[in-house]
Amino acid sequence: MQGSRWRQQWGARLGLLAALVALAPSAAAAAASAAAAPGGAPALEAELLREAHAALDWIVDIRRRLHQIPELAFEEFKTSAAIRGVLDELGVEYDHPVARTGIVARIGPPPHSVALRADIDALPIEEEGTAPWRSTHPGRMHACGHDAHAAMLLGAARLLKARERELRRGVALVFQPAEEGRGGAGEVVASGALEGARAIFGLHVWPGPGAQAGTIATRPGPMMAASTRFAVTVAGRGGHAALPHLAADPVVAAAAVVTALQPLVSRETSPVGAAVVSVTRFNTGPGAANVIPAAVELQGTVRALEGATFARLLRRVEEAANATAAAAGCAAVGWSWSPRPYPPLVNDAALAALAGGVAARLAQADGAAGGGGGGKESGAGSGGGAAARVRFEPLEAPTMAAEDFSLYSAEGGIPGAFLFLAMDGGSAQAGLHSPGFDAVDRSEALLAVGAALHAALALEAHARQDGGGGGGGIGADSGGGGIGAGSSGSGGGGSSGGGGDRVEL
Ligand SMILES: [Zn+2]
Ligand SMILES: [Zn+2]
Repeated sequence: MQGSRWRQQWGARLGLLAALVALAPSAAAAAASAAAAPGGAPALEAELLREAHAALDWIVDIRRRLHQIPELAFEEFKTSAAIRGVLDELGVEYDHPVARTGIVARIGPPPHSVALRADIDALPIEEEGTAPWRSTHPGRMHACGHDAHAAMLLGAARLLKARERELRRGVALVFQPAEEGRGGAGEVVASGALEGARAIFGLHVWPGPGAQAGTIATRPGPMMAASTRFAVTVAGRGGHAALPHLAADPVVAAAAVVTALQPLVSRETSPVGAAVVSVTRFNTGPGAANVIPAAVELQGTVRALEGATFARLLRRVEEAANATAAAAGCAAVGWSWSPRPYPPLVNDAALAALAGGVAARLAQADGAAGGGGGGKESGAGSGGGAAARVRFEPLEAPTMAAEDFSLYSAEGGIPGAFLFLAMDGGSAQAGLHSPGFDAVDRSEALLAVGAALHAALALEAHARQDGGGGGGGIGADSGGGGIGAGSSGSGGGGSSGGGGDRVEL
């Protein structure tokens, strides 16, 4: 999911922009923006942007501190403590622990009807970067930008706390553990900490070069794929390579299995339905070139945008592999699937439209302030690239990457909207999950934009919930696209389950 595809997906589509923005305005939105700042910029967004930029060094410092202490899923102890320290400094109350290491902070009176989410876990990657704030944890790295997510949400906490007395209802700020393959969002939902939430927003940084730094993007409906992983052993009978007729060759059988899985997408799935079946590991184990091994382990991933397609593919992968292995005199055994598959991420149409409107007004406010993220670059100085202009672009197409943000809707019944914020990932042009990745290498000022965006989303959603939107559908439809139970789950003997090395997005 690197450059070129993303360039297409982020491509400007003015018609779609007009359509999406046209969905957004409501009486409340109009009211919220009615008082225009000098220069015609929307007053609320301009004010939030100005305040966020005034706090930029503070936000940057948090991001850098979190970047130094990356921790894997459900092990975010130092990270959690650092975040709680900032919340204490702000005088913000919170629940802890939620989902083991997570935190749900609360600003404003109950009900906390709008939730904002940042994930906080890192990846088992050795960082290549040499910045002073590089990882101090060997083999651990914030290679997915979750340090930036947490810092931006703390920035939003600061903005919202300053307005707390004006809030007629509350905001829940979710610092969620274990996004990377472990489904931490599901544990947050199960904890009940988000009871009363009728809308949730999430933000993910997105590095260039496919996306221009400063671009905010989202779309109504499906945005990211359902995803799971599998491992299976094709078991045969080993032997001398010179006497294949006396063996049951699992290499040939496993090769046939790989081939047999291809038509599941190309022949059994609608050409206009998006799905992926990729076999990514083919492991014969240690041995010699003149020995037929006894078994081959296959691993791979299955993804789809629609829950029904996803559930069908999970069933068909096992059926096709089992039958093909058997036809070759071998057996497909020890099936193992992700313990918690991620459902499709389906944005609520009304919330996506709301988010598009907020992002467009933020871009307008940034432009009126002279661009460059609306303010100064970080005084801490991290790069020297040109300051990014904020803009909003509807996301033309979904991506087959996955995010456990989908669980808030699918399991929690909370309508949600997920957004991308394009950052400059650095000269290495390193993508997410790369050892050279740095979420904000040359665009740290955009951390202030993310903070302002979070806060503006919450305030706008509140305004709609207060009735200004004419019942604009917020909370009406989770659109979660829930998936079936999926796999047979017979495994346990496989090798892919539950590890901290699983990387979705
Ligand atoms: Zn990731
Ligand atoms: Zn991520």
